[in-house]
Amino acid sequence: MIKELHQKLINKEITAVDLARCYLNTIEEKDKQINAFLSLIEEEKVLKQAEQIDEKINKGENINLLEGIPFAVKDNMLALGTKTTAGSKILENYESSFESTAVKLLKDQRAILIGKTNMDEFAMGSSTENSAFFPTKNPCDLTRVPGGSSGGSAAAVKSEMVPFALGSDTGGSVRQPASFCGIVGFKPSYGTVSRHGLIAMASSLDIISPLTQSVEDAEIIFKVIAGQDSMDSTSLNIPIDLDKEKNKEFKIENSVFGLPKEYFQKGLDDVIKKKVEEAIKKIEAQGAKIKEVSLSTSLYALPCYYIIMPAEISANLARFDGIRYGGVKDLKIENLRDLYFKNRGKGFGPEVRRRIILGTYVLSSGYYDAYYKKAQQVRKLINEDFNKVFKEVDFLITPTSPTLPFKIGEKSDNPLAMYLSDVFTVGANISGVPAINLPCAWENNLPIGLQLIGSYLSDYQLLQAAKLIEKIII
Ligand code: GLN
Repeated sequence: MIKELHQKLINKEITAVDLARCYLNTIEEKDKQINAFLSLIEEEKVLKQAEQIDEKINKGENINLLEGIPFAVKDNMLALGTKTTAGSKILENYESSFESTAVKLLKDQRAILIGKTNMDEFAMGSSTENSAFFPTKNPCDLTRVPGGSSGGSAAAVKSEMVPFALGSDTGGSVRQPASFCGIVGFKPSYGTVSRHGLIAMASSLDIISPLTQSVEDAEIIFKVIAGQDSMDSTSLNIPIDLDKEKNKEFKIENSVFGLPKEYFQKGLDDVIKKKVEEAIKKIEAQGAKIKEVSLSTSLYALPCYYIIMPAEISANLARFDGIRYGGVKDLKIENLRDLYFKNRGKGFGPEVRRRIILGTYVLSSGYYDAYYKKAQQVRKLINEDFNKVFKEVDFLITPTSPTLPFKIGEKSDNPLAMYLSDVFTVGANISGVPAINLPCAWENNLPIGLQLIGSYLSDYQLLQAAKLIEKIII
């Protein structure tokens, strides 16, 4: 998609101005129904950037692959000249004085930011219904959720309001909405993309990730946003050509794909099981070796995540005190304590408050050893399990979501049912490994996604495998 648009620009089949207009018109036409965007950049600003690119093309100058390509970002990434709400009332009017590294890197390529997308508040949720502003609808079926928490970005890409978007994935928030909307969502290895300027949810799990129409596009974006950043001490200095030689040699018939048996048991909808198994048969028919494996600790990944993640949330969200990043308007404040209570009480929605309370509890003295410390020990075991299995196989194949996209309102009163949406995705965040959602089938016009998981820092091999597999399975 991105390469095709680039070709059209350099062949002068379309101008950058017309390209931008085309996406702005689609937004105008479709977003009234879908509600993917929280804010848009002023048309004048967007078109001015596009005009400059057209001037370059007309002068015969070369342009980058991403030059003039519009994009959107989830509203938890800072971008200059935009509000960054993280889907929360407490940040309703917050404008940052600096920009997130990922957004800056894309802008340096002169890709054109056109808007900020809706999300579950502070990225907590699996349906985008936890946005403090409005829910986003699934473009495949407007009565259903687009997944979450990056539901706005997924819906925007699916409905062609932008060619690509950024989301963030802490427990599945890019892969699950990609699965629900029938697009590609790639969560890179932890540390490969700078988190600077991403509003932190759980810092040891968060990663900025692309949502795209194809694996090729995901790879293009990843190459631009990956890299070490002095503003994020957890970002890694890995050469972008990592294992380039190995990539060249990638052949499906030389690869072993593991099916973790725990992922195909109870809790998985029959139709998803059937369709993912059919996709696996197609991969096998191309000569790949398929092997059943066991990830016995995977049963503990979800409970482990739901302790570590709220613990980190309780620490990260302490900074929103009603003063430093703005607060809720028109509150009657009596004293400082009252200011904290009222801003946090009214500014945060119920899911955010629930997680802060849970996180504070698991970190409190007396319970720390029983919960937080135990979860860290379990995390280590899960890591060891992944390391062990990747000695036997090159990649793992699992469903991305245990269910089809559900109806708006269907799970919003049942947090536990909602948490179970992440059962197949959280493992990759707990252990930091890369994983990607590929659309693999449709059932009653609803998409089904397959998840491909690679070993830590095998991002490029994973993308090469995914490029072949996306063509085979659908
Ligand atoms: N749905 C998961 C949660 O609610 C994942 C969130 C995420 O990846 N940001 O925690």
